[in-house]
Amino acid sequence: MQHRGQESAGIATYEGRMHVVKGMGLVHEVFNELNLRYLRGNVGIGHVRYSTEGASIEENAQPIYLYTPSHEIAVAHNGEIVNVAELREFLGSMGSGFTTRSDSEVIARLISYEVTKRGIIGGLKETVRRLRGSFSLAILIDNRLFAIRDPFGIRPLALGSIDGGYGVASESVAFDSLGGRFIRDVQPGEIVEITPEGFETHHVFRRKHVAHCMFEYVYFARADSVIDGRCVYEVRRNIGRILAREQPTDADFVVPVPDSGRAHAIGYSEESGIPYAEGLMKNRYVERTFILPSQESRVREITMKLNPVRSVVNGKRIVLVDDSIVRGNTMRKLIGMLREAGAREVHVRIGSPPIIAPCYLGIDMKTRDQFIASGRSVEEIARVLGADSLGYISIDGLVEAIGIPKEDLCLGCLTGEYPVKIEGERIRHQCDLEEF
Ligand code: SF4
Repeated sequence: MQHRGQESAGIATYEGRMHVVKGMGLVHEVFNELNLRYLRGNVGIGHVRYSTEGASIEENAQPIYLYTPSHEIAVAHNGEIVNVAELREFLGSMGSGFTTRSDSEVIARLISYEVTKRGIIGGLKETVRRLRGSFSLAILIDNRLFAIRDPFGIRPLALGSIDGGYGVASESVAFDSLGGRFIRDVQPGEIVEITPEGFETHHVFRRKHVAHCMFEYVYFARADSVIDGRCVYEVRRNIGRILAREQPTDADFVVPVPDSGRAHAIGYSEESGIPYAEGLMKNRYVERTFILPSQESRVREITMKLNPVRSVVNGKRIVLVDDSIVRGNTMRKLIGMLREAGAREVHVRIGSPPIIAPCYLGIDMKTRDQFIASGRSVEEIARVLGADSLGYISIDGLVEAIGIPKEDLCLGCLTGEYPVKIEGERIRHQCDLEEF
C-alpha cells in the first residue's frame, strides 16, 4: 500500500518471539534480502507511514513494538486519534512512559494497559471504547493477529485470503496484487481475530450511522480498490460526469492532472462530449506530492513530476480536471506551465467541493489558513490560481457520485461538522454511538 505512505516502512512477525524491522523510506529502501530473512514466522503485520500526528522521524516508524511482562505487542495504525492528550495523561498517571509524540504509541500503550487488566478480547474492546478518532489497526499480540476498524469506519480496512491464509489490508487491491481474494470490508466497530482456520469477530458498538471519509474516494485510495461496496474508479468517473453537468464549459480538450485526476477527467469528457487528451505527462518515478511531509518538498517535486505536452495544449482551450485543491500550489504551477506551453484558455474543474476546514481524522490538512478556499469566493480563487474559470462539484453532487447516504459519510473538511467530538468544532449528532 505504498501510495498510502512514503515516509517509513516496517514489518513485525512472530516466531517464538517478535521480530521487527523498520526504517525511514520506501518499502524497497527499508527491506532487503538480509533483513527479510530475519522476519521469521507465519504471522505478521506491516505498515507504511504517512504522518498526521508526530514528526516524520525514525522513532515514529511503525509497527510500534512494546515488550510487556505478559505479552509482546506490535501495532500498525492508520488514522488519527483526537483524544490523545487525555489518554496520554491517563496512561502517564498509570505509570506508562512514552518514547515518541505519535498517537499510535498511545494506542499501543492503551492496548497494553487494557489487555493486562482485562485479558486480550476484553482489553481490545475497552481500547475501542476509549479511543476517539479514526483508527484502522493491525495488532499482533504474541502470535495472535487482530484487526480493528473504528466504530464510524472512517478509514478503510479490507479482509481477504491469500495462499490458504487470511489477512487484512487498508485496501482490497492488496489482495488482488498478491493473487489473493478480497472477502469483505471489516465492519465499523468490528474486532476481527485472524486465525489459521479463518476469522472470529466481536463488536463493541451498535451504530445508527457511520462516517466513511469522502477523501478516500476523491483522492487517497487507489482507483482499483473497492471500499465499502464502492469501486473507487467508478466513483471518480461518476464525479467527473456530475461535474460536467454542474460546471459545463466550452473547450477543445479535457486534460487530467495525472494520475489522481484521470478518472474524474474521463467522466467529464464522456458527459460533456469534449475529447479527452493527455496534456500533462507524468514522470512515474516521482512519488505522490500531496503526501510529502513539507511544503518545500511538495513544490520542488511538482515540476519534476509533471510536464506539458506542447503539441496537445498549444493554441487550445483546455479544461484541466483534478480531484481536489487543498493549498493550491500544484494547481497554480500547472496552470502557469500550460500557459507557457501555449494554452489559450485554462478552465479548471475540481472533483471535490472546496476544502475549507481541517481534517483531524487522518489526512494531513491541519490549519484553516493553509486552504486556498478558506475565506475566498470561487472567482477570487480562480484569480489567485490564474485560471480563466473555476468550478467545483457540489456536496450533493459528490454524495450522489459516491452512492453512500450523506449521513454515512464524513464531510468534515467540506462542512466544518465532524462525526466525533473535537474541541472547538461542531459535531454531527446523527453519529452518536450505542454500546452493545
Ligand atoms: S475531515 Fe475530510 S479528509 Fe478528514 S476524514 Fe473527514 S472527509 Fe476525510
